Amino acid sequence: MDKERLKTIAELEIDKLYEEFDIEEEIPRDNIQVVTVGWKCRLGQCLYDAMFFQEHFDSKLYGRIQEEGMYVIALAQRLPAKEVTMTTRHELAHAVVHAMGYPSGHNVYWKRMAKAFGTNPRAKNSRAEPEYKYWYGCPNGCWKKKYIRKVDRVRNASEYTCGSCGSTCESGELE
Ligand SMILES: [Zn+2]
Ligand SMILES: [Zn+2]
Repeated sequence: MDKERLKTIAELEIDKLYEEFDIEEEIPRDNIQVVTVGWKCRLGQCLYDAMFFQEHFDSKLYGRIQEEGMYVIALAQRLPAKEVTMTTRHELAHAVVHAMGYPSGHNVYWKRMAKAFGTNPRAKNSRAEPEYKYWYGCPNGCWKKKYIRKVDRVRNASEYTCGSCGSTCESGELE
């Protein structure tokens, strides 16, 4: 679909949800940015405390700027028109849950919000891959591993060191 058209559909859907739900209280409408990306495997993504200086990306999101309280809803250009609204709701639910201070991911808080927004709370929309929720790796970027469960290495990352550079390992939750 045309990038501008996709973006317009998403923006209108967000406006609609803002009218229907009291979202302004959590996130001012202007703090939501919609961008389109030429992804192959992913349909959508919500980025927290972030913004971009551009609105369209070829295959990768780059140039992210850290900005407290800002949210980016990124949508795949290949999304069929009928899936744009569902994916937008899915990602906006992530943003609102984050703004309310709840943990991120496809947890009960997100499910409740997604259901309220009228989207499929089974999270099928956004990702075709298994749900990796945690990461563990070297803070210097030597390597990074993703986990579905909170395994020992994720819980006790600081007890391990990077084999390449010797730094203390770190871990966290994926968006
Ligand atoms: Zn999601
Ligand atoms: Zn390292």
